[in-house]
Amino acid sequence: MDELKNIIRDVPDFPKKGIVFKDITTLLADAKSFQRMVDLLAHRYVGEKIDKVVGVEARGFILGAALAYKLGAGVVLVRKPGKLPSETFSKTYQLEYGTDTLEIHTDAIRKGEKVLIADDVLATGGTMSAVVDMVRDLGGEIVECCFLAELDFLGGRKKLPDGKVFSLLTF
Ligand code: IMP
Repeated sequence: MDELKNIIRDVPDFPKKGIVFKDITTLLADAKSFQRMVDLLAHRYVGEKIDKVVGVEARGFILGAALAYKLGAGVVLVRKPGKLPSETFSKTYQLEYGTDTLEIHTDAIRKGEKVLIADDVLATGGTMSAVVDMVRDLGGEIVECCFLAELDFLGGRKKLPDGKVFSLLTF
C-alpha cells in the first residue's frame, strides 16, 4: 500500500496558498498502480449486489467507471451544474467559503437500487455528503462511499453515514 501512497504527488499551494494538494494523476499514469488501485477497490465489493456506481466529477468518473466495469454495474455521473443534458436533481452544499452545487439525472437511480459512490479524495466530506443526500433522495440505497485516499486530519468521515466509508489509503 505504501507504493500506492508514495506515487501520489504532493503539490504545495494548490489550488491556493497553504493547501498541499494530493495529485493522484501520477498514480493514474502508472499502469501497475492504476491496475492495483482498481483491483483492490473492486475486490472489496465482489459478490455484493451493486446496481449502480456513482462517480463524482471529475476524478471520481475514472474510479467509478473502472469499478462499475469490474462489478458488472451501471455508471452514474454526478456533475457540476449545467453539464447533464436531461432533467436533473441538484444539491447545493456548504464550502469553507461559499457554496457549491452538484447535479444528477433524476432517472439515473431507481428506488431501491444498491449504489456504490466513488471519488478520488475524501477531504472535508462536504462533496460526498451532498452526493449521499442526492442518491437517497432518488430512493437509492447506499452500499458504501469509497475513496482512493482520505485526508484523515480533516475529519470528513464524520459527515458521512456511519460504517459506510472506505478509503484505500489514509494520509
Ligand atoms: P471535500 O468536499 O472537502 O471532501 O473535498 C472532496 C472533493 O474535492 C473531491 O471531489 C476531491 O476530488 C477534491 N479534493 C479535495 N482535496 C483534494 C486533494 O488534495 N487532492 C485531490 N482532490 C481533492
